[in-house]
Amino acid sequence: MSLLQARNLNVSIGKARLLQPADLSLETGTLTAILGPNGAGKSTLLKALLGLIDHGGETKLDGKALSSLSPRERAKQIAYLPQGQSHAWPLSVEAVVTLGRHPHGGHTHSGQDGNVVERVLNTMGLKDLRGQSVLTLSGGEQMRVSLARALAVEATFLLADEPLASLDPRYQFEIMSVLAGQARGGDGVVVVMHDLALAARYADRIILMKDGAILADGPPVTMLSGENVQSVFNVQTRQTDIHREDGPINVALPSELESKA
Ligand code: ADP
Ligand code: MG
Repeated sequence: MSLLQARNLNVSIGKARLLQPADLSLETGTLTAILGPNGAGKSTLLKALLGLIDHGGETKLDGKALSSLSPRERAKQIAYLPQGQSHAWPLSVEAVVTLGRHPHGGHTHSGQDGNVVERVLNTMGLKDLRGQSVLTLSGGEQMRVSLARALAVEATFLLADEPLASLDPRYQFEIMSVLAGQARGGDGVVVVMHDLALAARYADRIILMKDGAILADGPPVTMLSGENVQSVFNVQTRQTDIHREDGPINVALPSELESKA
């Protein structure tokens, strides 16, 4: 098992505190969903964990400071799918997914790299699009290519920031099922998302964020209580049964704007 840990992780820009000091321990074999309203600090938390923005506190991978790892080593251990990433160059789908192998061998690719790319194209349903320029793809297809590239890294941890954005309902299920499969296979998967029902269905653990702070952290059935969902998202809720591999759970899902009364 591997551990990605943060102690007293915090982010400020000028006088603005974007992330309140947070302690966090993420482990492999687990699918963790980060939920919270827009502007809650979810992306900031991921970027700070990855060392992509200035931050206070410590981050460690298996007890070793992340800052002591070379960028290549870190990229090999922790794959990252940024939020709202768009493709800038007219590369083929296959070429973009192959970029995910970069931390492993720089510009030279081995047969092993080819096998990984092949497997990931297959997993993400991208085989028929492999030769197509990513610039000609739909938003949903581009998202699947970005996620495929992140999966091709074969990192120990995968941090995906809103990978379900712009996907149709069927692909949202498919992607969550792929990510859950990665976690079952031993990866540490962290997903920022907005669909509470999908989080309830697939996540092992939910982290609730609001106003730059982690409010609560635990299994879906306790995190998605009426009280939590109402106070984090300012909505009314309805209790709903959610089917899970390990049995049904009953959670609160948003149903209506918060009453003004
Ligand atoms: P989330 O991903 O939860 O929607 P973010 O982590 O992107 O939220 O942003 C949290 C808050 O920090 C937002 O209010 C956002 O406007 C602010 N913020 C993010 N980046 C910067 C920045 N570079 N400068 C100033 N404010 C920022
Ligand atoms: Mg965000």
